[in-house]
Amino acid sequence: MSNTCVFCGAPAVVPIVFPDTFTAYQLLQAGDQACSRCAEMFKEAKFRRNCWVMQGTEWRKIDDVLGFLTAMPEPPFVLYLTLQKRKHGWIIAVQNPVLCKDKFVLVVDEDKILFERNRFNDLHAFSKALLNHGIPKGVLLCGMPTPSSLRKFGLTWQEAKKLEQLKGNMFWMVCVKFGKTKS
Ligand SMILES: [Zn+2]
Repeated sequence: MSNTCVFCGAPAVVPIVFPDTFTAYQLLQAGDQACSRCAEMFKEAKFRRNCWVMQGTEWRKIDDVLGFLTAMPEPPFVLYLTLQKRKHGWIIAVQNPVLCKDKFVLVVDEDKILFERNRFNDLHAFSKALLNHGIPKGVLLCGMPTPSSLRKFGLTWQEAKKLEQLKGNMFWMVCVKFGKTKS
């Protein structure tokens, strides 16, 4: 009987031992072995603590997430984004490789977000404009701004309504949280 990797489903070669601190069993497939790539990823903290892309066996840390999403290399590749830097969402990432630049499952920590290019371009442009304007990320993420924020930052009613609609939207959160604040 051949074994498959508990993380990605590829043929497995390495036995895996889970430490007591591991709690993400719901992300795994049955078995107790992993492929050599996933075994390494499980062991090495850099795969949890960074945003990264892996194409073939080449691993690269991503510093400018929105820049990467704007101009991505040709798929296929595995893409993992993290804000919390401690979760095991990389397991979801290896299970959902990027196959198409314009529509794919974007993995952020342990959440899956449907990435659509047009939607991204719109939200990215909106977040960039507001961040460039010096509006704090907290204000952009809490929905309808207060009347004093509206005045202070000179937001239009249309912008405020859009912020209200985007409250709790994960894709919007990605565009804001990974966005650069005005320095
Ligand atoms: Zn694997």
